[in-house]
Amino acid sequence: MRRRLYFTVDADRDANIPIPGSVAAGSIDRGSGTAPRFSSSERGMAVLADLLDDIGIRGTFFVEGRTAEMTDCSVLSGLCIGLHGYDHEDLLGRETGIVPDVEDVLRKGFEAVSDRLSAPTCFRAPYMSADDRVLDVVRSLGIRDDSSFYTEVGGPSEAYGIGGVTEHPVPKARDRNGRVIAAYLWPMHEGRRAPEDYISMAEGMDELVLATHTWHMVETREGGVMDDAWVSGNSDRVRQVLEGILDLGFEACAIGR
Ligand SMILES: [Zn+2]
Repeated sequence: MRRRLYFTVDADRDANIPIPGSVAAGSIDRGSGTAPRFSSSERGMAVLADLLDDIGIRGTFFVEGRTAEMTDCSVLSGLCIGLHGYDHEDLLGRETGIVPDVEDVLRKGFEAVSDRLSAPTCFRAPYMSADDRVLDVVRSLGIRDDSSFYTEVGGPSEAYGIGGVTEHPVPKARDRNGRVIAAYLWPMHEGRRAPEDYISMAEGMDELVLATHTWHMVETREGGVMDDAWVSGNSDRVRQVLEGILDLGFEACAIGR
């Protein structure tokens, strides 16, 4: 059996945060409020498109409708395009205390992403917050592949069927020190994980969904916008992860087609 690596990216607003009482998400307040920003997301798209082109693999980008409208996302055309809400909605209202009209926001997102790129063929819920009802709406859009759930330590990293879609879970595992590591590259961008951690995570798996954010290529949650040296070091570390896992005999695959 071929080992499969899915490199997935959430193309969403910069350093996004749920805003209590608001359906639409914001960006971390860097001194001028929480209104959503998109400049790091747009820069990060270009960094990632270059990197993937250089390595010679396709990624899967879960694009938020508003981000598609607010950025020049044309660098993503030709890559596998998925959906990530319209305004980065917390679809279950766990963080915001307000449940949006899921059908309304996902249709709006689907149309925005279709207009700017191509019809999304897969879905990831913002904040990995989804349930069967959300998956019903996803299916009604003609989407049959989803990646909205984590697998806890010891659970499957392979795709499985749920709610009429194929689920590609984002796994968690234990690192060499017994600490839980999730397949989101987030802590590496923030300086708390090394590429080797993700490569060794892949060693025990036949299928691995890795995940990151566009904006996380050029901005950290904790430190703000990166300087140029950090941006290039960050990009190098993502390359090391991808090449290190491909060297283990994984084949790079896209979710949704
Ligand atoms: Zn997101």
